[in-house]
Amino acid sequence: MTATTAKGGCLCGGVRYSAEVTAQMSVCHCDVCRRWAGGPMMAVHPTSPAAVEGDTLTWFRSSDWAERGFCNRCGASMFYRLVEDRENIIIAAGGFDDPAVFKGFNREIFIDEKPEFYAFTGDRPRLTGAEALAEFTAEYYGDSTGSLEQSA
Ligand SMILES: [Zn+2]
Ligand SMILES: [Zn+2]
Repeated sequence: MTATTAKGGCLCGGVRYSAEVTAQMSVCHCDVCRRWAGGPMMAVHPTSPAAVEGDTLTWFRSSDWAERGFCNRCGASMFYRLVEDRENIIIAAGGFDDPAVFKGFNREIFIDEKPEFYAFTGDRPRLTGAEALAEFTAEYYGDSTGSLEQSA
């Protein structure tokens, strides 16, 4: 898929970023994302490490294996990264300057934790938390017997 450069930032402008992105994003419905983002996490996965700058960026350790980045001035929820791979951050889609860059979702994960009060239309893979974690573990550890057991 073709990648384009997209820029974005938090509400107050304290944090800015630039990333190579495709038109597709994923959606996570897990309980942690819901509390952190105030809704489902619509996640952009840059094709190479994003450039991030800003003194107001703060990281919160949300699980044994992941951290979430937010602005400590305006409170914007922006980034997700694995502690074993801090260079590659996943970026919340809403913060990009031009949302028209993104055309849709390629998949939804943690569908079993999605609240009843919303749903996205359209056909795409919808993985349960267990299915998603099994896939991530396989990608990350090269097999399906790794250590990711809780929700993201
Ligand atoms: Zn801010
Ligand atoms: Zn999640």
